Amino acid sequence: MDRLISKIRDIPDFPKPGIIFKDITPLVKDPAALKLSVHQLMQPFLGSEITAIAGMEARGFIFGSLVAWEMGLPFIPLRKPGKLPYDVQSVSYDLEYGSAVLEAHIDAFEPDDKVLLIDDLLATGGTAKASCELIEKLGAKVVACAFVVELDFLNGRERLDAYQVHSLLHF
Ligand code: 5GP
Repeated sequence: MDRLISKIRDIPDFPKPGIIFKDITPLVKDPAALKLSVHQLMQPFLGSEITAIAGMEARGFIFGSLVAWEMGLPFIPLRKPGKLPYDVQSVSYDLEYGSAVLEAHIDAFEPDDKVLLIDDLLATGGTAKASCELIEKLGAKVVACAFVVELDFLNGRERLDAYQVHSLLHF
């Protein structure tokens, strides 16, 4: 895990003053670190009931699609509004200032799908919680959420108490 921690770069005052952004681009630039992170993300779920992987735009697409590839499972993108070409279901959620929307195609999941949700980072949990709601609106079941980084001091995990939560690195 030291190899992974060394690949997370702190960017002060991004996207606004006072925020220290955890930049994962050094990690995805390092093939061995990327491979290790993907294998560690999926490790608890090998041989499990999971039938589909969902990932949030945009960094969830990187890790989610690689996990789906490695596990031989479908990858379902959860997208920002207006990006998907077919009929969509959507969910809106509150941000610190304003709100955001995530969308997925209405036929994205099979009714009996058991979903592993993947994103790069868990902060307040708002994005992941909304993603779980969207998946459930579409008739599938969320089994677990997995993150490369969890910011423990923001307690996002508490909002996901209905699900198994797996994080590789804790800050
Ligand atoms: P939350 O909804 O849990 O507060 O924020 C998590 C979402 O915002 C994730 O989709 C994540 O990609 C993004 N995010 C928030 N803060 C950071 C950060 O410091 N680094 C990265 N890489 N993503 C962040």
